[in-house]
Amino acid sequence: MTDLAELIERVEGVEEWRGTKRQREALRAMFDGRCAYCGNELGKVMHADHIEPCTRIVTDPWGRPLPVEERRMRNPESNVVANMMPACAPCNLHKGGYRLEQWRTYLQRSADIVRKQTSTFRAGERFGVIAVSDKPVVFYFEQAAALKARLQDQTGGE
Ligand SMILES: [Zn+2]
Repeated sequence: MTDLAELIERVEGVEEWRGTKRQREALRAMFDGRCAYCGNELGKVMHADHIEPCTRIVTDPWGRPLPVEERRMRNPESNVVANMMPACAPCNLHKGGYRLEQWRTYLQRSADIVRKQTSTFRAGERFGVIAVSDKPVVFYFEQAAALKARLQDQTGGE
């Protein structure tokens, strides 16, 4: 792709995500090297998460693996820079194919899910070793946006 074509894509806000060095550096800088979801420092490993999941077609209709050159995205319109978030590996892998609000609901229900699955969890709760909170799941990028808005209010929009 030419530099001009890349520039036009960027100006139009539909720049395709290719995982180039420039794109990855910009993504990492988005929240000062922190995961957009949990807020932990990314360290050396950063996963690039599609907020709206991008699924790939990797098998034919009979479930046989497609050759690499025939694999494609089901929703290539979601494979754009504006749909990317910097994520730590555990958040990216846990979010998997969930949409953001589906993942939030899943996280919100995590204690209920584990409680049903393990007697150890139930025992831990009974003996006061495990305490579950009903605190809402707020992603780091949402906290960061709220903080930025507060700072802008204090400085008169500077
Ligand atoms: Zn994370």
